[in-house]
Amino acid sequence: MPERLHLQMGLAERDSKVIWHPFTQQINRLPPIAITRGEGIFLTDDTGKQYIDAISSWWVTLHGHGNAYIAEKIYRQALQLEQVIFAGFTHEPAVALAERLLPLLPGNPARIFYSDNGSTSTEVALKMAIQYWWNRKRESGTATLPDRRKILAFRNSYHGDTFGAMSVSDRSVFTLAFHDLLFEVIFIDTPCAGNIRQLEQLVQESATEIAAFIYEPLVQGAGGMNMYESRYLDELLVAVKRNNILCIADEVMTGFGRTGKLFASEWMTETPDIICLSKGLTGGTMALGVTACSERIYEAYNSRDPLQTFFHGHSFTANPLACTAALASLDLLLEKDCLERIAAIARCQQSFRDVLSLSPGVRQARCLGTIVAFEIEHGKKEYLNEISAVFTQQALARNVYLRPLGNTVYLMPPYCITVAQLETVQSVVLEILRSLI
Ligand code: PMP
Repeated sequence: MPERLHLQMGLAERDSKVIWHPFTQQINRLPPIAITRGEGIFLTDDTGKQYIDAISSWWVTLHGHGNAYIAEKIYRQALQLEQVIFAGFTHEPAVALAERLLPLLPGNPARIFYSDNGSTSTEVALKMAIQYWWNRKRESGTATLPDRRKILAFRNSYHGDTFGAMSVSDRSVFTLAFHDLLFEVIFIDTPCAGNIRQLEQLVQESATEIAAFIYEPLVQGAGGMNMYESRYLDELLVAVKRNNILCIADEVMTGFGRTGKLFASEWMTETPDIICLSKGLTGGTMALGVTACSERIYEAYNSRDPLQTFFHGHSFTANPLACTAALASLDLLLEKDCLERIAAIARCQQSFRDVLSLSPGVRQARCLGTIVAFEIEHGKKEYLNEISAVFTQQALARNVYLRPLGNTVYLMPPYCITVAQLETVQSVVLEILRSLI
């Protein structure tokens, strides 16, 4: 593009000529907002207008944008070692992060396997679990062990956009073009008082062919912020484990305090065999994925047989800058002050849920920890519900960034938000609701 033309165009216009955005219908799309600065809970656009980032930029930002403490650590690490192959080499940030994460995670996991985003963390978990059974069968040399190849997952689930992750996500508009190419999965409803016995029976009936059960603990994010009760998940986990099925907790969204505990799995007594982490792992500053597994799983790969190796890895596995960002984010997250702020946000969201449940035009107001969600009474509960774009525009006009999933509106703010700022966001939501009814 000639440079003069280039200078005359705004960023949104230049973008429209060269960029293809994620989860965005390209035709009729509104021009993207050009963000020039992020500071705390605020995003500033190229006209100087500020927005409160009330969804933590797709659920990643924990301590606010442009956090100086994390930025400083990344900068110093970048001067020392920015990247190195992770097969045959190691480095301090990767080891230190694993040493720090393992004791924090529920269920006494033994090993950390790094990748670079949420989808890869679940892909790794699925492959790890399926090959676990393959390795065990190979090691034992007996044909009597059952072939455990299937995955058990929840309806309405979402575990990412790569093929394995898509396969174990419920079939939806996101996956429609690929249905015949996705592997077969046994889908069950999330557990409740009415179906738990039936689910237990179903698990038992198919148990010998199931390698693993993957679940988003207590909150199904992209499926519409559906929440379900910990005691029934606990009961289901008991049944799953009784049948020797590996449990994979996808905590990509729920990890690092979102549900009011450090990890959502802490709400249950049964613990997972594998845990997937990303998003808030680096405080939302850099791309990193973690798949933590138990000693039992790791041991199945600890073999003299080269074919029992886990042949998986990405160029940016355990990137030193990303691991450094994660260590810095953990420093901030575990400070007493941050944990108190999470508790204060949770209390404020709980009160807002009570207000919402009495508000006209609102269905199923719900809250867990720092997340509050509800459906606007408008059409069906589906991602393509057009009310989403209307709501987003109305919120932007009031200096708040929200991105409902169809008619499901939710708030998931960074932990640096003050209660007064959160109340401002909440009143904007109520104001928009009144204008829509
Ligand atoms: N699992 C869950 C529970 C998620 O919410 C997401 C992202 N929304 C993913 C996996 C995929 O993560 P990523 O977008 O980083 O690939």
